[in-house]
Amino acid sequence: MLSTKIICTIGPASESPKILEELAVAGMNVARLNFSHGTHQSHKQIIEQIRELNKHRQFPIAIMLDTQGPEIRTGDLEMKLVPGKHVSVNTPPNEEKEGTLFVNYPHLKDDLEIGNSISLDGGLMCLEVLEKTEKGLECEVIHGGIVKGHRHVNLPGTIVKLPGITETDKQDILFGIEQNVDIIALSFVRNPETIREVRDLLGESAEHIKLIAKIENQEGVDHLKEIVKEADGVMVARGDLGIEVEMEEVPQIQRRIAFLCAKYGKRLIVATQMLESMIENPVPTRAEVTDVANAVFEQTDAIMLSGETSIGKYPVHSVEALARIARRTEDFPGVNYSKKMLKRHTGQHLAESAIQIATNLKIRAIVVITRNGRGAAYLSNLRPHKIGIYSFTKSTSVLYSMILYRGVHPFLMEFQENPEGTIQDALRILLEKEGFAAKEKVVVLANILTGEGFCTSLQIRSIPAV
Ligand code: PEP
Repeated sequence: MLSTKIICTIGPASESPKILEELAVAGMNVARLNFSHGTHQSHKQIIEQIRELNKHRQFPIAIMLDTQGPEIRTGDLEMKLVPGKHVSVNTPPNEEKEGTLFVNYPHLKDDLEIGNSISLDGGLMCLEVLEKTEKGLECEVIHGGIVKGHRHVNLPGTIVKLPGITETDKQDILFGIEQNVDIIALSFVRNPETIREVRDLLGESAEHIKLIAKIENQEGVDHLKEIVKEADGVMVARGDLGIEVEMEEVPQIQRRIAFLCAKYGKRLIVATQMLESMIENPVPTRAEVTDVANAVFEQTDAIMLSGETSIGKYPVHSVEALARIARRTEDFPGVNYSKKMLKRHTGQHLAESAIQIATNLKIRAIVVITRNGRGAAYLSNLRPHKIGIYSFTKSTSVLYSMILYRGVHPFLMEFQENPEGTIQDALRILLEKEGFAAKEKVVVLANILTGEGFCTSLQIRSIPAV
């Protein structure tokens, strides 16, 4: 079983029950629903299909809602942009008009300076601001092309006056709570306040939903440390990030995020263009293989596919390729940033001891019995090499929250009143379902009842014969 988790964006190429099942068999752990597209109804249908699929799976698929975020877009009209020519850009409250480019951000004129760039359609086209006009801006086309309606607009290096989460995001998050999604990825997080705002929106009843901050622009990078501390995890959203900052900065930012997530014990997702060429081709480029391998080598919790599985010609092949690369790379120890981790909790120290014992005695599994998932997180945070973390819980929401953790294989199980009985049940599951041999040694981290009440114990146990 892979330690690295695989996130697949679901779209027209993958939303049928047949392909969803094939993606799951190929290694998908999390299905990502991109709320920049689709309707609540279409997302609900996919969620229902995944829930159906989960009824028959040993390891279920978690659902990630990815918000649209505070985006800027072009208007309805298509327009040809010729390099070297000038183009007028209109903004609200002015109307969209034939022959001008409309951008739906009212502060465009105030926020941009002469010489600044406007990037269109994922960076494919680019304008340079020449002057400010009554209705907006006069620009020169640097990189041209056909800009279609509602294309993505990025303003590299510009601090925008957009809310942390929009009204649409709020409605989508409330929908996600109602649908009981497991993870919410927040687009364009620029400061920790946005995460706090969403936590308030989740309230107590949905506090189990993990919040992932997508780092996509310079402001997010500038507040990285505070964001990492506040969120449950971070996504290196390299698509927008590579437009908003100079693209040669992206590898360093990826490493900084990996380091900070390790330091603060947070989840790390590396995303976008991992196997981009597989949108069209059945095999990836060698550079893509190396990029995926580097992310695995860097011990990311998860690697994510976007267009490859949502609109690509080879969604299942893409997941198979990703899994193959990850499997081979996991043979190597990789870099372990967790050595710099701030170990604030006793549980983190116990996890460290458990890993040390397993490593020294060449034991390949640690069993953790957990009510809230924290024990599994502490173990995963330390990135043990070639040691599986078999995590047993009685709570469905905790089970789903652990799916994203690197190296963690989560199981749902009734707990017995006597903790020893629960441990015995867990060991029996490893014998019956996971190919462990009778008498094989495993390390167990579990709460046991003592004269002083419950306390966490660290034991070396043998798999029972029956
Ligand atoms: C990205 O920009 O890399 C990303 C993951 O965000 P989205 O796909 O929502 O634009």
